[in-house]
Amino acid sequence: MNFRTRHEIHSYHVAPLRTLKESADEQIAAVCSKILEEEKTEEREESIICKNCRNEITTVGYSIAVNGQHAHIFKNPLGITFHIGCFSRAWGSFIYGIPTYEATWFPGFTWCIAVCANCFTHLGWNYQSGRESFYGLIMANLLTDHKIH
Ligand SMILES: [Zn+2]
Repeated sequence: MNFRTRHEIHSYHVAPLRTLKESADEQIAAVCSKILEEEKTEEREESIICKNCRNEITTVGYSIAVNGQHAHIFKNPLGITFHIGCFSRAWGSFIYGIPTYEATWFPGFTWCIAVCANCFTHLGWNYQSGRESFYGLIMANLLTDHKIH
C-alpha cells in the first residue's frame, strides 16, 4: 500500500516532465527541419558572376520579368546586339553617368551604365522610372556559378 502510493506520486511527477521533454524534442525537430529547408533553398541559389574577374554580381534568385520576360534581345543605335537578363538587384556592380531616356530599350525608363565594381567591365544598364529600378545585364559578360557552402 505504501509502495503503491509512492508509485502514484512518482508517476504524477514524472508525467509532466515527459511531456515537457517530448515538446522540446518536437521543437528541436521543427527547428532542424527548418534549417534543412533553408539549406535546400541556398543550394538552389546560383551566383551570377563577372566573366572577367568572377566577382559576384547577383544571384539567379533576383531574376525578374520585365514586360513579361526575363531575357531580352536588343540592338543599340550602333547596331550591336545584346542579350540581356533582368534582375532586381546587382550588388556587385556600380552605376555611373547621368540617367537618360535616349534610345532606351524600356519605354518610360531612363538608363545608366552598370559596370563590375571590381574590374569595371561593362555589365549592362540600370533602368529607373520613379521609384522602380532594375538591371538589364549582358549575359555574355556573366557566368553562373554554384555557391559553395
Ligand atoms: Zn569583374
